[in-house]
Amino acid sequence: MKKIAFITLGCKLNYAETSTYEREFVRNGLQVVPWDKDADIFLVNTCTVTEHSDKKCRNIIRKLHRLRPEADIVVTGCYAQLKKEEISGIGGVRFVFGAEEKSRVVPAVMDYISGNRPQSSCETGMDRFFPAFSSGERTRSFLKVQDGCDYFCAYCTVPFARGASRNIPVARLVAQAEEIAAEGIREIVLTGVNTGDFGKSTGEKFIDLLKALNRVEGIERYRISSIEPNLLTDETVDWIASGTKFLPHFHIPLQSGSDTVLKEMGRRYDTAFFESKIRYIRERMERPGSLKVFFGIDVIAGFPGETGELFMETFSFLRDRIKPAFIHVFPYSKRAGTRAALRRDQVQDSVKTDRVRELELLSDRLHKEFIESNKGMKARVLFESSERNGMMAGYTENYIKVERPYDSSLTGRIAEIIL
Ligand code: SF4
Repeated sequence: MKKIAFITLGCKLNYAETSTYEREFVRNGLQVVPWDKDADIFLVNTCTVTEHSDKKCRNIIRKLHRLRPEADIVVTGCYAQLKKEEISGIGGVRFVFGAEEKSRVVPAVMDYISGNRPQSSCETGMDRFFPAFSSGERTRSFLKVQDGCDYFCAYCTVPFARGASRNIPVARLVAQAEEIAAEGIREIVLTGVNTGDFGKSTGEKFIDLLKALNRVEGIERYRISSIEPNLLTDETVDWIASGTKFLPHFHIPLQSGSDTVLKEMGRRYDTAFFESKIRYIRERMERPGSLKVFFGIDVIAGFPGETGELFMETFSFLRDRIKPAFIHVFPYSKRAGTRAALRRDQVQDSVKTDRVRELELLSDRLHKEFIESNKGMKARVLFESSERNGMMAGYTENYIKVERPYDSSLTGRIAEIIL
């Protein structure tokens, strides 16, 4: 029996896809082993979001080859899409599949194992949607509902790496959610590259998907992994607020709190729109005595042309007007092929580092305030299976982590607590 090991880099979408590969290879008779345990095949699912991600991918592939020179390495994902020739030149690499050739990975590897396939190949294309969901965790699954992006923000390589926005029909996603429910999993996180753009290739609406998923028996909670503010419509917010399985937890990319920078980034909103969206959600979903809505906000520090003054606009916008529960801060990373990479007014790395640090400190403070503002509220926690130092953890509806002494009977169950 051939042994296969998986290495995943990058986002939750990649993790959902790798998990799907695992299930398919097991169905095909392969044995899944940890990466350091005598694998015959390594499958590396790569990321290209920053320069650092590219380097990490190359280093991991080289390390795997040194560890087990006789093993075949199969590389897929965003980095594979953009740098296929570079990767195929690395020792041990047998196949490279672009991000949109992911559906071909399993048949190609199985054909190769059975001798029905050429000894190596490099494939890319721009037409496929590889359906995926993660399993393995007994409580939560990441369901891929959308792939690709048509936005072409000035700093981002994702539209080149993942291709055009596309999805599979609502009915197929409902069937996948039912499969997840059958595994005993209670919570699904909807994942995509530009999740709210769902429906581009099927003529359906994002809210139709939410309504259909809401009816799936066995799934008790849904979260939306990340959604562009312009795609989170008032209709969707109203519907979620009307008592659905969708939780008061939103991850929304802001990227900058300066209108000047937002415009240069090519984002599709300004700060006034963003602020009104957050206010609307709070008005619709927060009641006296109810849990506060968790907002996780993405921000890029040090975009070209971001002066100290413009950075302070972002800082004070977040501190005074948005007050999210968490800020995901990323230093701007110059990516070849993007508009922003051509700019001469790049911000020094040391300045970026300082700005990241300032925003992280702000995030820590806001997170503490968020926890404090929920004190004394009733919450429902879905406890997870893993045990650490005799403790187990779970998350409330609004994504507050709660710990308690390990009790296996609580795994995958929802318990009511007072925060
Ligand atoms: S919306 Fe912008 S940042 Fe997000 S994936 Fe698309 S191009 Fe990249």
